[in-house]
Amino acid sequence: MTSAEIFGSHVLDLLTFKKRLPKPTYHALRDAIQKGIQLDGASADTIAQAMMEWAVSKGVTHYTHWFQPMTGNSAQKHDAFLSFDANMMPIERFSGNQLIQSEPDASSFPSGGTRTTFEARGYTAWDPSSPVFIQRNRTVSILCIPSVFFTYTGHALDTKTPLLRSINQLNEAAAAALELLTGKKVSVSATLGCEQEYFLVDRKWHDMRPDLIMAGRTVLGALPAKGQQMEDHYFGAIKGRVLAFMEDLETQLYELGVPAKTRHNEVAPHQFEMAPIFRDANLAADNNQLVMEVARKVAHEHDLSILLHEKPFAGVNGSGKHLNWSMATSDGRNLLEPGKSPQSNITFLYFLVAVVNAIQNRGDLLRATIASAGNDHRLGANEAPPAIMSVFLGSQLTNILDQIEKADGFNEEIVASIDLGLAELPNITVDRTDRNRTSPFAFTGNKFEFRACGSSQSVSFPVSALNAAVTESLLEMNAKLEDVGQITEKNLFELLRPFISQSKNIRFEGDNYSDEWAAEAEERGLTNLKTTPEALALWQTEEAKAFAKNTGFLTDFELEAVINVRMEQYAKHLDIEAATMLRLIDNFVLPAAIAHQGESAASLSALTEALGEKAAASSALQAGRLHCLAETIGNLIDARNKLETELDAVHQLPEEAHALATAKQVVPLMDKARAQADALETMVDASTWELPTYHELLFLM
Ligand code: ADP
Ligand code: MG
Repeated sequence: MTSAEIFGSHVLDLLTFKKRLPKPTYHALRDAIQKGIQLDGASADTIAQAMMEWAVSKGVTHYTHWFQPMTGNSAQKHDAFLSFDANMMPIERFSGNQLIQSEPDASSFPSGGTRTTFEARGYTAWDPSSPVFIQRNRTVSILCIPSVFFTYTGHALDTKTPLLRSINQLNEAAAAALELLTGKKVSVSATLGCEQEYFLVDRKWHDMRPDLIMAGRTVLGALPAKGQQMEDHYFGAIKGRVLAFMEDLETQLYELGVPAKTRHNEVAPHQFEMAPIFRDANLAADNNQLVMEVARKVAHEHDLSILLHEKPFAGVNGSGKHLNWSMATSDGRNLLEPGKSPQSNITFLYFLVAVVNAIQNRGDLLRATIASAGNDHRLGANEAPPAIMSVFLGSQLTNILDQIEKADGFNEEIVASIDLGLAELPNITVDRTDRNRTSPFAFTGNKFEFRACGSSQSVSFPVSALNAAVTESLLEMNAKLEDVGQITEKNLFELLRPFISQSKNIRFEGDNYSDEWAAEAEERGLTNLKTTPEALALWQTEEAKAFAKNTGFLTDFELEAVINVRMEQYAKHLDIEAATMLRLIDNFVLPAAIAHQGESAASLSALTEALGEKAAASSALQAGRLHCLAETIGNLIDARNKLETELDAVHQLPEEAHALATAKQVVPLMDKARAQADALETMVDASTWELPTYHELLFLM
């Protein structure tokens, strides 16, 4: 079968429904999907029946509401279609009620304190805007029904609900702007394409590393002589074993309607990337969850392990997720793509400035949405953007905005001089001469690219916050636009000018990795919060709460839950990492090092006894090495003791203080202990070193 034939074969889309439903029911479903109109009970029953018949025809026996709790992963609980009829004969049954709502036991999902366990009722409800799909495993196939997850009081318990809300708000604000600008009513939707980076390692090595199993990253490990300095992996020929994995992954993604498009080797050894074709943000977010889920499964089937962690290996690049984002009209026009006519240039500039203004106002909060234990290793480590938000526009757009800002009033001549060939912009930026790879938020020709997101993260929170920030900015600008009267370039430039100048502070065209930028950013008053608990705390201010509430994507209550869950996850992740590190030191590193020390000491005594003065020079050198070994062992014991004591101490602290103290005290102690352990790895007898090394993990497959 061709990829086009495979594509979507496990997805029940509207077209397939059309063939399987009576006309009125099909129309009711279409309205539910496109306009959010609630389905009546009879239609829901008919739709459920059609869904089940389609699924059963493909060998499916079970269904599940597929939802995205605040863990950032997806969750499912399977129910069989099997039932009994009135005569106790076995039949397959699936009702409208079962399709629309389900009540999984929610008590074990993180809720950030929104529910106490005794009232832990959580509901999942079908989100018709994302199509149902069949997930196949080796032996079973499951009908997955994309759903939202909420408490019995109606509060969101998931990442999808806020995303859907933010998309609706943005779509409305953007459509309103377009109507004011062009006089035409069209619907708009946010578009998203998520590039996904990952590492692959041979499963036999992976399974011998307790830290990879427990924490998803190596908490110890010395860098081999060769890391990524030869720059020979990026875009290199893909190893056969990896290609086989990629092909299998892509086939399974195609079945699920995920349009996987590009694949290549990334910078670090054993690091790779995939990118899909962009689409509506809600679907793209679901698709990225599927990419991660299916990739884990397929890797396993290939005796590989996929590492989605942001920093699996110290000393080589970590992995991120680039969120390519724009807005498009229902007739396919990209609002961030400049056109040939002055009219389309006006609309383009309007939306462009709205986005820059949004980042000026809410960039800090956006940065905080991607804060996590894993991502703390990447941001600002000269491999990913720093923890400072800024916007890159490229020289041509910068020039245009600067001219508008500096113009001393707008007469015809000035207006004409400002229209500097915006129509050529897509060609210029697409050929990548005007790109900046170090920027956290870059304009790349006809979309923005938010590059700070971590590879393992759900994209929902950052995309929700971005949508909300642009909504807020558009509403502010739309209010001014209503008073403009005739939409001319001159009037528009006048409207844009104050927004351009108030958002200038966030624009930066230089090297975001440089120390000079950190210093300049500080002068500009931009925040640079390097750890997760500090960044998350930004969302606890009254201003942030008002922003979330006014843009309608999170209530106070929900926001508090989201931040609590993230603080808690941060502290728990690091607890696990630190505890795993102590185990590795005690069970692997120290035994090997001490044994080596014993052998070296015994051998040195024997040598002195046998040869005495004759071997004085060599004995002294060997004694030097032994001394160094003994000292490093001592340092390691000291460092692990301090780490253990501190770990006990932070455990006594309440949630948020626990997270903060972990960032400030525990993490630096882990770094110290690691330095000693990694030094020992380079000193001891390799044949006694039981942990697979970076050599095996990064070069043997
Ligand atoms: P690069 O390497 O330049 O970042 P890629 O081709 O790897 O480019 O990835 C670009 C991503 O951006 C793809 O997933 C693509 O589908 C997505 N993209 C392109 N145009 C848009 C758009 N208008 N809105 C959202 N995403 C887009
Ligand atoms: Mg990119």
